[in-house]
Amino acid sequence: MSDVRNVIIIGSGPAGYTAALYTARASLKPLVFEGAVTAGGALMNTTEVENFPGFQDGVMGPELMDNMRAQAERFGAELIPDDVVSVDLNGEIKTVTDTAGTVHQAKTVIVTTGSQHRKLGLPNEDALSGRGVSWCATCDGFFFKDQDIAVLGGGDTAMEEATFLSRFAKSVTIVHRRDSLRASKAMQDRAFADPKIKFAWDSEVAEIHGEQKLTGLTLRSTKTGETSELPVTGLFIAIGHDPRTELFKGQLNLDDEGYLQVEAPSTRTNLTGVFAAGDVVDHTYRQAITAAGTGCSAALDAERHLAALA
Ligand code: FAD
Repeated sequence: MSDVRNVIIIGSGPAGYTAALYTARASLKPLVFEGAVTAGGALMNTTEVENFPGFQDGVMGPELMDNMRAQAERFGAELIPDDVVSVDLNGEIKTVTDTAGTVHQAKTVIVTTGSQHRKLGLPNEDALSGRGVSWCATCDGFFFKDQDIAVLGGGDTAMEEATFLSRFAKSVTIVHRRDSLRASKAMQDRAFADPKIKFAWDSEVAEIHGEQKLTGLTLRSTKTGETSELPVTGLFIAIGHDPRTELFKGQLNLDDEGYLQVEAPSTRTNLTGVFAAGDVVDHTYRQAITAAGTGCSAALDAERHLAALA
């Protein structure tokens, strides 16, 4: 059992590193669990980020995260590239257990574990991430000016992505495994009325083609099994996200979709001294800058909580 720390941060994306930077600069000596496999978070899997303020010419995702990490470390954040495997967040002293079974104690915990976009599980999907395959129209739409692209999914997110993308693209084909959409009527109407949007009904993506860049998809009919080729340079996968909240079930309040609930606009959870920020809370915005912003809020909330205890 370790000494009692002021702050433990679980997760190392923009939210976690920003919380680490702020709490480190407040001399709270945060301990950050970065995750065993994906330290640095979602942006480690992408190429160019053009919408993070302060980088006029854009910045590569991994470089941005390395900079955030180094900035937090410079002010004394202690970073451990390991997973937290269990937590006890009740009571004044919280405990967090790592993969070696070591128990760490803290007066406050900030949860920034992010969310995982659902994947198709196809060969090439990861290799072409940031090279034509994307999970975020807001992030990447701009790269697809005058190109033919596809959006996979039939819910509100897919319709929103498709109508947003049609501003840039030459054409947008919505690939959906059924013959009707799950999206709300208003979102459907908007998509149907858009002359650039076409539909590939009763279809799923069977193969993703390309070496350095996406060059096309093989679609398979969910009714007949027949295949056809769709030559596109962009594929936006909009089949949902899974917030990483398994660890907190039964302790922190989750909403119907599994996201952590906070007392907005604060980052306070239902448990005193436990705060949450970034995509693990956020259904709506899911951007690096919003994650960093709420990571800052969580640090300030934790700081004020500790000051009130003193
Ligand atoms: P994440 O970045 O997801 O980080 C969460 C971290 O927590 C991970 O490192 C994970 O390993 C760790 N973790 C989880 N569980 C545990 C545990 N039990 N113990 C320890 N650690 C744990 N946004 C933009 O603004 N611009 C873009 O151009 C852009 N491009 C994107 C491209 C891709 C391919 C993807 C997937 C996303 C992109 N986004 C972009 C969205 C952006 O990456 C996210 O909104 C942002 O990373 C969310 O930050 P976060 O800190 O909440 O979580």
